[in-house]
Amino acid sequence: MSHSLPTWDQLPPGGIILEPGNSILKNTGDWRTFKPIINNDKCIRCMLCWIYCPDGVIKIIDQEYIDSKGRKWNIIFDIDYDHCKGCGICVEECPVNAIDFVEEVK
Ligand code: SF4
Ligand code: SF4
Repeated sequence: MSHSLPTWDQLPPGGIILEPGNSILKNTGDWRTFKPIINNDKCIRCMLCWIYCPDGVIKIIDQEYIDSKGRKWNIIFDIDYDHCKGCGICVEECPVNAIDFVEEVK
């Protein structure tokens, strides 16, 4: 899905947002210099990353998963990289260091 950006004379006065909820149309993943990668094997499903992510881009996926310790989970986590800005908050909040933060390669 591609969306053309408005020209300066098409912007509303003051740059106010007239259509709430339009952030899905902006590909904020372009800004990222570091990329979080969730390790579902180390993850303890506490959901702190999901709660703290300011962009709401951490996805909870209904999928059975058995980790290397034999623990059985009913969900896995993934990230919407089109909209993750790479702020690193999820990395900081994860209590078991299950999110790697690697340099983005474009
Ligand atoms: S790096 Fe920031 S925007 Fe990306 S998933 Fe983590 S908390 Fe969300
Ligand atoms: S904060 Fe860490 S342990 Fe908790 S759900 Fe997210 S990745 Fe898993």
